[in-house]
Amino acid sequence: MTGTDPDRAQPAAGDDRSTRAAVATMYRLTTGHRTSVTAATALTLAGSALGLAQPLVAKHAVDASGREQVLWPLLLLLATLFVTEAATGAVGRFVLERMGEGVVRGLRHSLVARLLRLEMREYGRHRSGDLISRVTADTTLLREVVSQALVDLVTGALVAAGAIVLMVWIDPLLLLLVALTVAAAAAVVASLLKGIRAASERMQNSVGAIAADLERALGALPMVRVHRGEDREAARIGVRVEAAHTAGVRTAKLASVMSPAVELAVQGSFLIVLVIGGLRVDGRTHSLGDLVAFLLYASYLVLPLSSVFRAVGLIQRGMGAYQRIEQALSLPAEPSQRETPPVRVRTREPVRQTVPREEPVLALRDIGFGYVPDRPVLRGLSFSVAHRQQVALVGRSGAGKSTVFALVSRFYEPDSGVLLFDGLPATGLSRAACRERIAVDDQNTHVVHGTLRDNITYAVPDATEAEVRRVIELARLEGVVRRLPGGLSGVLGERGGTLSAGERQRVALARALLARPALLLLDEPTSHLDTVNETALTTVMRDVTRECSVLVVAHRLSTVQHADRIVVLDNGRTAACGRHEELLTSSPTYRELAAGQMLRPAGTRTSTVTPARTRPRHPL
Ligand code: ATP
Repeated sequence: MTGTDPDRAQPAAGDDRSTRAAVATMYRLTTGHRTSVTAATALTLAGSALGLAQPLVAKHAVDASGREQVLWPLLLLLATLFVTEAATGAVGRFVLERMGEGVVRGLRHSLVARLLRLEMREYGRHRSGDLISRVTADTTLLREVVSQALVDLVTGALVAAGAIVLMVWIDPLLLLLVALTVAAAAAVVASLLKGIRAASERMQNSVGAIAADLERALGALPMVRVHRGEDREAARIGVRVEAAHTAGVRTAKLASVMSPAVELAVQGSFLIVLVIGGLRVDGRTHSLGDLVAFLLYASYLVLPLSSVFRAVGLIQRGMGAYQRIEQALSLPAEPSQRETPPVRVRTREPVRQTVPREEPVLALRDIGFGYVPDRPVLRGLSFSVAHRQQVALVGRSGAGKSTVFALVSRFYEPDSGVLLFDGLPATGLSRAACRERIAVDDQNTHVVHGTLRDNITYAVPDATEAEVRRVIELARLEGVVRRLPGGLSGVLGERGGTLSAGERQRVALARALLARPALLLLDEPTSHLDTVNETALTTVMRDVTRECSVLVVAHRLSTVQHADRIVVLDNGRTAACGRHEELLTSSPTYRELAAGQMLRPAGTRTSTVTPARTRPRHPL
């Protein structure tokens, strides 16, 4: 697994790090929320205007009191201005926050939809904890940036522009001097921005790595405990925490240098204006009033300019998070169901009823495949599964049996050869249409957090009580239902931790059977079952072939010796094909596999050696 390196910022292809590009990206994010952006900007500007008007009214009020004029209308106006400014500010803030939440909601929907549909290979390349943190931590940081920085930038720029226009009118030369000082501050800010963005990216990557490493430890907690690995795992995660801290402190350091730089520039421009402007006051072309007015307008530049610089810094921080979100959104994914041709809604009527009987349910023709280039796992594999047939795939460990299931499930596409469902090339069908034909009970026996019923009815949420009872009986789950507090509505823990491995395997089998597919794929269905349940499952498999075809992978040949056909896989090819008795005489590979398990021809007494790793822990 090649996880994301948290210590290295990873710019996406075509990454443009200029501030203009960053602002444009942030602006693009608000598509669909432009009314809110405009409303929030207008409200903030109105708030500023109302704020600026208050000193004027206050001045008049003071003057009026000196002249003993009526005061109350001015005081009422002042109070109205104050209340309106507060109300405008509150509404503006709410509109902004709501817009930020809206942007984050859209991004989270897109990310979740994408991450659940990535090409299977991508899950091997990226750590799930890190992917999760892009949906949670990165979007949260981005919300702050979008809701705060954009409006600060727009309003700050507008107010500053207004002040500049008035300053040009009063004294262009003085403005030039001010502009030079501000430009010096802007250069300092610009030199800091790159560092802020890189540090922010490093911090977000480290947060992702914390989530990924924590997930690694929690996902294997019994193993970690037994091998006394808590401290090692904590130390491993601690390194990530330290990296996040270092990057966070660096971001804070750079951001805190920015404010004094801006303040120095503003104070410097005041001094320049005072000294140079003062020297130029001559009472004719340059009056003292001009200088005072110019100084006042220069002061109006202070707040908007600092908010523009702060916003630019914030936007660069947000770009670190956005970069990671964009990377996740551009990972190769399977087409969504909406993009693929419409497929039938699962009816629980086996698909085979709608296709000609003479075509095999599944056929592999000369399939070649490797997970990585130049390392083929399958090299020209061919076999087929006819209707109501039980076909077994056997072979040494690593021969490629589970890989066949992965191809049939269309998690990967073959490098060569053709995969056919009901005589139709898989490439001509949507992935959903292919998967609709199959149900899988694989080695991992996935059980998700939820009730026993949720787990059994996962593929068919609207299954009737009778259908559920039927598969419970078939999978020999009655005992579990009786024992589990709450029965079918009893909650199974994370990854089905409250069940034994054998029970989990039978839950997965019940789920697969309930789907009533055209083809049932069983990968090591007996690996966690005792001999009593293994025999029962063999009977179930025979019964199931009355309804659908079965392709089963098993190391324990006793499970599959009654199969209609056994395909022996060797070195990615079909080494032999036939029934148990035929293969015992014709296939040296099969004989070797059978010899290790002391299997005799079917019909004679069978003695199965249960591999130590699959020996049952509890009698049923
Ligand atoms: P077993 O009987 O032990 O379950 P198998 O016959 O099912 O083995 P596969 O799981 O299909 O074997 O694996 C075939 C080969 O492909 C092995 O060499 C394995 O290391 C490799 N392999 C399996 N999955 C991947 C993957 N996701 N990425 C890279 N290589 C893989």
